[in-house]
Amino acid sequence: MGAFTLVCLSCGREHEEFRMRCQDGCDALLRARYAARSFRPAAAESLFKFSDWLPCQGSVETGIGPVVYECGALGRKLGLERLYAAFNGYWPERGAYNSTGTFKDLEALPTVLAFREHGKRRILLSSAGNTARAFAHAVQVVDGFEVILVVPEGMLHRLWLPGGDRTGQVKLVAVQGSQDYYEAITLGDEIARRYGLDVEGGARNVARRDGMGTVMLEAARLLGRLPDHYVQAVGSGTGGIAVYEAALRLRQDSRFEDQPLPRLHLGQNAPFLPIHHAWTNGQRIDPERCKGVSEQVYASVLANRNPPFGMAGGVAEALRESRGATYAVETPEAEEAARSFERLEGIDLEPAAAVAVAVLRQAVEAGAIRRDELVLLNLTGGGLERIRRDFDCVPLEPVLRAAPGSVEEVASIL
Ligand SMILES: *Cc1c(COP(=O)(O)O)cnc(C)c1O
Repeated sequence: MGAFTLVCLSCGREHEEFRMRCQDGCDALLRARYAARSFRPAAAESLFKFSDWLPCQGSVETGIGPVVYECGALGRKLGLERLYAAFNGYWPERGAYNSTGTFKDLEALPTVLAFREHGKRRILLSSAGNTARAFAHAVQVVDGFEVILVVPEGMLHRLWLPGGDRTGQVKLVAVQGSQDYYEAITLGDEIARRYGLDVEGGARNVARRDGMGTVMLEAARLLGRLPDHYVQAVGSGTGGIAVYEAALRLRQDSRFEDQPLPRLHLGQNAPFLPIHHAWTNGQRIDPERCKGVSEQVYASVLANRNPPFGMAGGVAEALRESRGATYAVETPEAEEAARSFERLEGIDLEPAAAVAVAVLRQAVEAGAIRRDELVLLNLTGGGLERIRRDFDCVPLEPVLRAAPGSVEEVASIL
């Protein structure tokens, strides 16, 4: 169970140990090659039913896992006969128990387990909010592991946990005066370099990708085939890469081998559109160009200024191989989609998930998705209002507020 090597998608070198980059210094992503070739989900309720294809051996008691259901009301409204949604939030009536309300919960648990199994005791993570919350929760359920979170001060309101930090395993560093994810990454990287800490790795981390990939595995388990289309709102595009890789893995099983890869329909929230511009006009991704734009968007978790686009195994490859497309969604469209979804299906959506609903509508109107095709819509977050109602959500307090560029102060908390 869970035996794997990590293959460099550029030079093909295989690595036995859990790492983020090829030992030969290639820029390509690494991809897990699992010993298990056929698709055999276990009986577990959580994401650990897919342990064969996760880069960790262990598991923990958890309700976290992908939930796929037939999204009938929205499907009828859009004229789609076979619309399925992956609801990756908190919605007990549907069996969705992601503790912090987004699909980042699917990434955090396998990551923490994989690091711990490789002898690590802590990692550093820079995040705009949802990822930080998910990792803060993961270390509540995985013993003996600590996470140092570097978060823009302006995003601190997103840092809370149902029941709070009960274990003291979260160390939160706020980047003073900052709203911006990229500044947190810059400071986080400096801290990691200076003090020799392991960083969590983002899109380069196969545990994050294969954790998210369980969304495609759950759809295949439920539907017995690959969907024709996959729809998601993206910031880094890691979710798109992850489901593409999961589909490749499923096609190694004879039950799925003849099926086309699901076409990726990836959307961003205008005016923050680096992936959309890179894909449609070939515009180079430049983290400096979108500076300051992140404050203007409704779905601010999508404002990633440095997505893993062009390297082997990156977003461009997933789009190309799946004959995919990208979309720009205006904020009023997304807000309308959020209201309409809540009215039709009865649960609140995280803004990014509302962007995905708007992407689906655009794709249907453009004729890119036909009414009889099988569609998997990834609702990457939702039920946050429900979480606040059902739990005592305690804010996480920073142990340190550090100015951008000031890594010295951090020594005191390590
Ligand atoms: C992180 C996040 C996204 C974007 O995911 P990527 O695949 O990493 O681009 C979308 N929705 C929500 C709710 C998120 O937290």
